[in-house]
Amino acid sequence: MICFPAGMIGVRRAVAVFAVSALMLAACTGSHDSRLPSTSPSTTVPPPSSTIASVTQDPLLIAARATVPVLCYHQIREWRVGESEFSRGLTTPPVLFAEQMAFLAENGFHPISPAKYYDHLVSGTELPTKPVMLTFDDGHISQMTAVPILQKYGFTATFFLMTVVIGKPNWIKTDQIRQLDALGYTIGAHTYDHQNLAKLPAAQFVKQVVAPRQRLETIIGHPIRFFAYPFGAWNARTLTALGGLNFDAAFQLGDHKMDATNPLMTLRRQIANPLTGMPGFRRQVSPVGDLGTSGATNSLLSTTVG
Ligand SMILES: [Zn+2]
Repeated sequence: MICFPAGMIGVRRAVAVFAVSALMLAACTGSHDSRLPSTSPSTTVPPPSSTIASVTQDPLLIAARATVPVLCYHQIREWRVGESEFSRGLTTPPVLFAEQMAFLAENGFHPISPAKYYDHLVSGTELPTKPVMLTFDDGHISQMTAVPILQKYGFTATFFLMTVVIGKPNWIKTDQIRQLDALGYTIGAHTYDHQNLAKLPAAQFVKQVVAPRQRLETIIGHPIRFFAYPFGAWNARTLTALGGLNFDAAFQLGDHKMDATNPLMTLRRQIANPLTGMPGFRRQVSPVGDLGTSGATNSLLSTTVG
């Protein structure tokens, strides 16, 4: 039996529709053979291969296509007096964020959704020129400051939310999640309370991944397809544990290579570092360098956040 990953359900459905259509067509033409020209162009059905030929599960091909810079933001607010450099490094002042988005708009960049990135990776669909992905982790309320700036330029973005914080002071609320979804932003999963999945006991995956995803799906009313690892951390055991959950793709952090056999579940992503100003931002939105893939287990850097 061929098992399609969740992201290929559409393909499976298309094939099924094609099969049913072909059967219906065969039945129909069977009853009217004598009155139809045998070579009528209108009855020509394209071969099934034309429906699925461009879909691949080849990790090398997927990895070769995974060149879109993916930026990860945390908080969008002013720096506080006395705030540590570490904390400032995770906090983009609104003026700088606005300058970054203006730079993207003025220089022909096109923020894309993870769904569009996924389609490109598995089907080779065309991406707009200078594609980038803008993502926001955790669900801090200050991220709502980014929304009108994104709206100004018609930019899409992705919000990877941990669910323990929803509705708490200084964190995103349920109605705001629905609002983001209604505006066309992507909602993704980011565990219950930000556990390191490379160290998580297998018995905790339901609490940390399955249940939070279901909660987000209940809030927005449709499937959650994408996941971001807290701290960017994963290892082979993590991939195995996530393998049965049918996420379409998952994002890590930093300069770690993608997994050689599962690039879709280890897509690369960088923290948008406000400390490097606009020069750093311009470097970060340049196409991802060729780090290729690695079969080695990713080890969590102590300085990695996310
Ligand atoms: Zn996080």
